Amino acid sequence: MSEEQRYRPDDECPLFSERLEELLVAVTRGESPNAGRFCGYCYHPLGEWTRVCPHCGMGTDQRAPVDSVPEEIIEMLRAQRQTESRIVNAFAYAGLIIAVLAGLALVLGIPFLRANLIWATVVYAVVLLIGGRGLAGWLGGYYGDRIGYERARRALRERWAAWLVERDAA
Ligand SMILES: [Zn+2]
Repeated sequence: MSEEQRYRPDDECPLFSERLEELLVAVTRGESPNAGRFCGYCYHPLGEWTRVCPHCGMGTDQRAPVDSVPEEIIEMLRAQRQTESRIVNAFAYAGLIIAVLAGLALVLGIPFLRANLIWATVVYAVVLLIGGRGLAGWLGGYYGDRIGYERARRALRERWAAWLVERDAA
């Protein structure tokens, strides 16, 4: 899924703009300081003189920019990415297991292969290498990516809604 598709304004949560996500990944890795000028609503990085957040449309006079991203927001991104990759991996493993079982069924199901160990091994290796990789990539990259994104996004929306209540009560 491309970065542009990741953020959809209709899902009620302005996290995470592409630039913010990139920055927070760098912060998490210790490659970038958590400092700058950020939208006070969605934490999109703002230029020094930017007066309206290009990501969520919040004016800096409506909500003052902040100079660092709250730890809770960084934690939300970490959780989102963990959920996504866990589900992508689960689907990829499922693809691999399907290839293992289908390869076994093939080798055991064809009398010629059952009787010829070398050919059986070759066929099994090919099924595993090509089928396993293909299925893992397809299931992980297509279904895993979609389902992982939806699930991670749902959790993020709930967390964002709770965070808004907490933040704006303070
Ligand atoms: Zn914003």
